[in-house]
Amino acid sequence: MIVTIDGPAGSGKSTAARGLAQRLGFDYIDTGAMYRAVAHSCLASDIDTTDRASVTERAAELRIGFDGQDVLLDGVNISAAVRSPSISEAASRVAQHPGVRAEMVRQQQAMVRERDMVTEGRDQGTEVFPDAECKFFLEASAEVRAVRRQEELLARGVEVPLEETLEQIRQRDHRDRTREISPLRPADDAIVIDSSELTADGVLDRFEAHVRQCLEDLRGS
Ligand code: C5P
Repeated sequence: MIVTIDGPAGSGKSTAARGLAQRLGFDYIDTGAMYRAVAHSCLASDIDTTDRASVTERAAELRIGFDGQDVLLDGVNISAAVRSPSISEAASRVAQHPGVRAEMVRQQQAMVRERDMVTEGRDQGTEVFPDAECKFFLEASAEVRAVRRQEELLARGVEVPLEETLEQIRQRDHRDRTREISPLRPADDAIVIDSSELTADGVLDRFEAHVRQCLEDLRGS
């Protein structure tokens, strides 16, 4: 079974997707970490993230993998290194290039063959796994998401003013929602949940209840 969770930055997708995978005993893919890995590699080599041809070429050369919840680039764990605001910004730029997306989608589809999986990102229910059995779209107001992102960064010792975090979230939202290929939007058959007023456990409980219902429906059909 494939469960997709899409939504904007800071909506709580990662926490929900990880928790859900753990509760269900499913594997988990953080597809945002894959775009972050491409951005990380480009920045480390001084490749201009707006240079479509060079970024696409680099994306095709990379070996991106997962070890549990950690993302590996050419075998090296880069999970912590890719969470900075500058990588967030660069990831949303490299994610605009069609060739980069095609390569990431190819790798994501290859990862789920024959496995039960929770996969999170921006296009999982719409483009990558349109036939997924259970789809969610998680949203929250930009203000709530900025506060969450600020707390997450602070927990890692990075202090960013709230106004700046909010502005970065707005810019990233704009790029993700208006790009020409696979813009962020809920799939027609996705369950849309607003997490603004919910705790992380509250979101997780809702997700789990829907997935268990979905599993029962599949068994009954
Ligand atoms: O989810 P996360 O914030 O880690 O994603 C970083 C960036 O990668 C997003 O802002 C988005 O531009 C891009 N992304 C994407 N498609 C996905 C996952 C992430 O375009 N499936």
